[in-house]
Amino acid sequence: MFSEKLKNAPNGYTFDDFLMVPSVSSVEPKDVVTKTRVSKNHYINIPIVSSPMDTVTEAEMAIALAQEGGLGIIHRNMTISEQIGEINKVKLSGDLTIRDVITISPEESIKEAQNIMDEEEISGLPVVMDGIVIGIISRRDIKPILNSDSQKKVRDIMTEEVVTIEESTTPEEALDVAYENKVERLPVVQKGKIVGIVTMRDILERKKFPNASRDKKGRFLVAAATGPFDLERAIALDEAGADIISIDCAHAHKPEIVEFAKTMKENIDADLLMGNIATKEAAEDLMAAEVDGFKVGIGPGSICTTRIIAGVGVPQLTAISDVADVAKDYDVPVIGDGGLRYSGDVAKAIAVGADAVMLGSLLAGTHESPGDVVIMNGRKFKQYRGMGSLGAMTGGVGAGTDRYFQDVKGPMKHAKLVPEGVEGVVPYKGPVNEVLFQLIGGLKASMGYCGANNIKEMQEKAKFVRITAGGMAESHPHDITITNESPNYPTTRLI
Ligand code: 5GP
Repeated sequence: MFSEKLKNAPNGYTFDDFLMVPSVSSVEPKDVVTKTRVSKNHYINIPIVSSPMDTVTEAEMAIALAQEGGLGIIHRNMTISEQIGEINKVKLSGDLTIRDVITISPEESIKEAQNIMDEEEISGLPVVMDGIVIGIISRRDIKPILNSDSQKKVRDIMTEEVVTIEESTTPEEALDVAYENKVERLPVVQKGKIVGIVTMRDILERKKFPNASRDKKGRFLVAAATGPFDLERAIALDEAGADIISIDCAHAHKPEIVEFAKTMKENIDADLLMGNIATKEAAEDLMAAEVDGFKVGIGPGSICTTRIIAGVGVPQLTAISDVADVAKDYDVPVIGDGGLRYSGDVAKAIAVGADAVMLGSLLAGTHESPGDVVIMNGRKFKQYRGMGSLGAMTGGVGAGTDRYFQDVKGPMKHAKLVPEGVEGVVPYKGPVNEVLFQLIGGLKASMGYCGANNIKEMQEKAKFVRITAGGMAESHPHDITITNESPNYPTTRLI
């Protein structure tokens, strides 16, 4: 009977429907560990992943997130080669070894060595013959004799005993070697041949980011998005060195997509994330693809209109907890994707089973998101748009069209599209590391209240109380006109 559909409908809840109950706790927020597994084979140090959206994640955001211990997913509203370019930027920036190393032949004049060092603004050059490092020459070697004997060859004055390191040397070991031998530059060799150079300055610079998410080679971890049937892109991203590939799709609970995900898995080495889903049934069915993580969320996003234009979705805390119930049995990590507005929402998502959260709106206003700051009424904003918005579906390479199963090409494109997202602006927030500091600070405070030392304990120990609209009204600041905006409680109104 039709009426049964409504009578038997379960309740669906989201962030504002619950609070966590304070528990007995000796946990100090400063001591909690936020390391988490974002996919079967990759850990990150803060449970924050950025959305693969064209107003959120390109290389700059992915680098900044990796430095702080999170993960960026490069969006796919660009050509494959452009997306590979973004991955390269992330990998090169987090690579301690300078790979396009400038070398000099022993037969060159010292004048030429000096010229190269001036042009490239470097202080030393490895001297290389047939790929083998046979010496090193620095400004300090050249300076005393340059004017008197500038025709001398590099071979005549180079230091012949070169301290080199292998590719497998860790940054800490490299630092020890550099200190012990009092050298600033260490050529990196593999089977005797030079493959790059490591400088003391870069090793010390790297120490600024002790929490960074790194791959086995010490480069930054990076993920990239592909379409549900875009095998060519998935393979190209994999070959370019993406650690995780994320199937980006509004409704992944489709037999054809599950079947195709198996093919993708077989063709790539990277971990494969799959989504989005919002039910236990979807999680069970997707297990067939043996993917390495799930993204959960149908319509919770700040820019989504799916729930309004299609009338479909599941409130986000219910969706995360339902999927996590199944995923935990199979040991598959879960990412809660969309709808988060405060650090308390991050904590609640984790407490109901998410291993990490995916953020769009919370990161779109930062310096590192693509696009320029716009000034409206004297305040700063950045553009933010849904990938199913008209602008995203008709701009770039139109990634939103297959994300929302809209295979529309040719003229009148606009008229034939049914958007599932909106376009707008969010307040400019400055550098992303400051936003992350507040989000993780709030999460740590939450873990302290709940007596959880780490993410796993948070998932096990946190208890909830169901609240009413009255309870939520009481939770926000009330009966005050806020005069000083708090960095973790924005009150900026757009109009
Ligand atoms: P937010 O953090 O802004 O609340 O949500 C971001 C998430 O919304 C993204 O990670 C993605 O899953 C989802 N999303 C992005 N664009 C659209 C869109 O145009 N429509 C819908 N339904 N979801 C979107």
